[in-house]
Amino acid sequence: MTTAVQSSMSPATAALFADYVVPNYTRYPVSLERGEGSWVWDDQGQKYLDFFPGWGCNLLGHCPPRVVEAVQKQVATLIHVPNTWHTEVQGRWAKLLSERAFPGAKAFFCNSGAEANEAAIKLIRLHTPESRYKIITFTGGFHGRTMGAVTATAQPKYHEGIGPLVAGFEYAPFGDLAAVEALIDDHTAGFLVEPIQGEGGVRLAPEGFLQGLRDLADRHGLVLAFDEVQAGCGRTGHWFAFQHFGVTPDVMTLAKSLCGGVAGGAMLVKSELAPSLRPGMHAATFGGNPLAAAAGIATIETIEEVGLLQRAGELETLFRERLEPQVEELPIAAEFRACGVMIGLELLTPGAPIVQACMERGLLINCTQNTVIRLLPPLTLTDEELHAGCDILIDALRNHTPS
Ligand SMILES: *Cc1c(COP(=O)(O)O)cnc(C)c1O
Repeated sequence: MTTAVQSSMSPATAALFADYVVPNYTRYPVSLERGEGSWVWDDQGQKYLDFFPGWGCNLLGHCPPRVVEAVQKQVATLIHVPNTWHTEVQGRWAKLLSERAFPGAKAFFCNSGAEANEAAIKLIRLHTPESRYKIITFTGGFHGRTMGAVTATAQPKYHEGIGPLVAGFEYAPFGDLAAVEALIDDHTAGFLVEPIQGEGGVRLAPEGFLQGLRDLADRHGLVLAFDEVQAGCGRTGHWFAFQHFGVTPDVMTLAKSLCGGVAGGAMLVKSELAPSLRPGMHAATFGGNPLAAAAGIATIETIEEVGLLQRAGELETLFRERLEPQVEELPIAAEFRACGVMIGLELLTPGAPIVQACMERGLLINCTQNTVIRLLPPLTLTDEELHAGCDILIDALRNHTPS
């Protein structure tokens, strides 16, 4: 049974959406108007504590002051110029990312996670001999909605009715090295994998799995690409999730929180791969535009000056202290998983009613894979906000009566 969702929005806005917006999203009947830090307000004046700000894009909370200021300054100076020109701001952004990723890393800029993965897919094929085109990806992974990225996404529900898919992708179970090895043949070009699956339910790569992929890639001359669109840019307490595992990829894709809530994407590649994306083979008109670059730089500077990488670890500990005991205490809670502020609580029952109950009590959270409560809170969350939100969530879980 689904409970009726309480509406909190102006009827005029509801009518605009009903009449003029493609209904491809399941939207709550709430219209958000303003955000500040960990809080967001709807157009009826309701206030919400946001543990899922911007679907993981707002890692610094809503409207982080330094990003706001950098964009305001940049927007009045130069909004957009194409990549037929150089801009100092794009070059400086690339340097800051490279220095935090791996030695010699070079950046290609785009505007979203799917676009970053499309670039990676092309680069994997361009960098390897023409006979090598197959890319192995992993069950439960998520790489975006464009045709290449969605084909790379090994989840049948995202493929229904849109075929034929892009040729040359093969799927292996996440964590199963023997299955990967069995798929490798003379046509294999590389791997695309999330070190921590996000949409797949906050699942960390099992011990030794990424190193095993690295070894297979090195042995067979394949390209190892990590999709860090959700886990990257400081969320896990390191700049990039791969740094937890001590395994360096050849290619890494970024988006979501890359620009502190402004749209932006990037692919970082080892310098020896960079020339393979040769002039004329790939482009993004808005990629690396001055607004995204200024926001991206301000995001990195904020994280470092406030010491937010360290804060990610503190927040993980606090969330763990509050939520992990629930697995013992509540019959519906099955497992707690976390890395920094990437947090999953797996339930034995659908999570949608919990999301609904929390929203009615002023807390925004998410549920993925039907039963995993997912939190992607901002690094700027205070202890007080953390406890206030956990109180609501735990209460909602306790009062839940499975239908
Ligand atoms: C969100 C996401 C994407 C897709 O990003 P878009 O910006 O929506 O295209 C790709 N990979 C991962 C891991 C993601 O979480």
